[in-house]
Amino acid sequence: MPRRAKNLWPARRRSAVETAEALVSANGNSFPVNLGRIAESRSIHRIEFKPLLTEGGLAVQNDGFIIYVKCNPGDGDDFTTRFVEDGTGSTLPENVVHRARFTIAHEIAHTLFYDTGSLPPRLKVRLDDRASTRSLELACNEIAGSLLLPEPLLRRDFSNEEFVLPEALRRLADTAMVSCQTVVRRFQQLRKFSHPEAILASIARQDTDWIITALSRHYSLRGVFAAAKVGSSVKMMVDDPDFVLLGGEMREVGAKYSGHGEKAMTMQFACELGIGTRRSALVTGRPVREI
Ligand SMILES: [Zn+2]
Repeated sequence: MPRRAKNLWPARRRSAVETAEALVSANGNSFPVNLGRIAESRSIHRIEFKPLLTEGGLAVQNDGFIIYVKCNPGDGDDFTTRFVEDGTGSTLPENVVHRARFTIAHEIAHTLFYDTGSLPPRLKVRLDDRASTRSLELACNEIAGSLLLPEPLLRRDFSNEEFVLPEALRRLADTAMVSCQTVVRRFQQLRKFSHPEAILASIARQDTDWIITALSRHYSLRGVFAAAKVGSSVKMMVDDPDFVLLGGEMREVGAKYSGHGEKAMTMQFACELGIGTRRSALVTGRPVREI
């Protein structure tokens, strides 16, 4: 029987994550991470906003790269200039900045799979089937997360935060200048920074409902509220009509679930303040300790 080729992607991903962390520490080492400076150090000569069919793209040139980021017609020159000004995108419109930063981080991640010692840069990995293209894209999403929310910086600046509270997750999202979805997804990937004993979710408003856009569970809560998934309604976790997300006035409500040995337990769900005008928000659920 032919031996299956060894999957090289986990090792490639780990090594690229380490490179990403080193790039952050060599280029400012603070939140919000300065993607412009990191891009320069990766031979990315220009970050250009323009109308595109995809969120972004990387063009390989003779002496380096250009990153393209999607925007609406007419905004390209303005956004390109604004991003160059400070390298973080802090002056971009609020509805643009998070997506743009994630896209730029994702495209920077792609450059880590090129040998920049050769001119033009040469792809170091073989992409000869759909599985390897998909592995590369997933790796670049994870590396984008480590560029925007690197573990060493989280440990330095946020080790005292209680991420069982939605306000703490919001502070992190604001400080790192990322969406709440990116923050929650990041908690699924962290290796050294401990996951709070909670379920963390980002949600987005859809008509009268709130839909889960990212979900991260502490390992001890893996099987709890199993119907709650990305794409499902927040009601899969909490359906109390008094809860603010469901039209009530309570920011915190309890929901019953069965714990170890079918023991009846309560999960305390909390939603952040000020959801009235938000299109996306953060929710956490933490088990209530029986005294
Ligand atoms: Zn990509």
